[in-house]
Amino acid sequence: MTCEKLEKCPFYNDKMDINRGIGAMYKKTYCEGDKTKCARYIVATQLGPEYVTDKLYPNMNNVANKLLEENKK
Ligand code: SF4
Repeated sequence: MTCEKLEKCPFYNDKMDINRGIGAMYKKTYCEGDKTKCARYIVATQLGPEYVTDKLYPNMNNVANKLLEENKK
């Protein structure tokens, strides 16, 4: 299922630096595949969009986990 954040997501809209091929692969895997595995999606839904920076890429689950641990409410 595609991600409902597609339209506004800087990653999906090529506003974040990434190799074109890898970017396309991530879009297919996460944005148009399984959004629930996307680090950006996980942080946005569990902590809030304000925690999602332009340095957080979809595959950075280790960073997402760290953020979740540090900011658990
Ligand atoms: S990068 Fe993550 S949050 Fe952004 S559109 Fe793709 S799946 Fe959704």
